[in-house]
Amino acid sequence: MLANPDDFEESEPMKRTLLLAIGLCLLVSSCAIPARDTVFQTSIMNASATGGHNGEMTCHELRRHGNFGIGTFDHLGGEMVLLKGKVYQIEADGRIRRMNPSDKVPLATVCQFKADRTVVIRRRSDYEEVKILVNENAPHKNLFYAIKITGQFKSIHTRSGPAREETNSPSSKAGSNQPEFRMNRVSGTIVGFLLPSDVKGANEPEYHLHFLSSDRTQGGHVLSFEITDGKCEIDALDRESPEGE
Ligand SMILES: [Zn+2]
Repeated sequence: MLANPDDFEESEPMKRTLLLAIGLCLLVSSCAIPARDTVFQTSIMNASATGGHNGEMTCHELRRHGNFGIGTFDHLGGEMVLLKGKVYQIEADGRIRRMNPSDKVPLATVCQFKADRTVVIRRRSDYEEVKILVNENAPHKNLFYAIKITGQFKSIHTRSGPAREETNSPSSKAGSNQPEFRMNRVSGTIVGFLLPSDVKGANEPEYHLHFLSSDRTQGGHVLSFEITDGKCEIDALDRESPEGE
């Protein structure tokens, strides 16, 4: 039986409304969810090294670009960990602070983490041995990789830096006077990136990792560690950022 043409006249506006609604939903969802397999960076390392210490971007804005990453805070005060969408600051005295959405971030590298590969760590391994494991599973030297290492650590050695008082003075001395922390038998997560060597100046080449303990009481910029049991997840950030990101 043929459909009555009047039915079509009545249903077309409904169809258009439905299509428009679906289109808007897709548009809203594509705007709200950060792009996968891309990396977002606020500022560049050299700007920070020449005195650009003050954050322009808030933690709230940063989280719109990813749920995972590392960085620092206003006047280079402390180390930043962004994990599961929450921003933490490891202060120079070792205390951990959960950041407010309005707190500023001068330098950060973030992504929407989803592991492409997971490597189980079954035997005691130090930083250098874990690097070998990661390098085997991150073979492209020109790619950016996000690295997440979760497990039990026999020991971990980190540092954090106090905020600079002179906001316009160069931070070339940032490496000095940075308190170091040594933790033993601690569980937690290492968050960071393996970047190509030619990003030097714009970012930290090779490995740059920060640690946050499971109980959110300890952490810092990773100097060395020994992991006894855990896993290493690797996310290749191999897509170009969408326009406007
Ligand atoms: Zn760091």
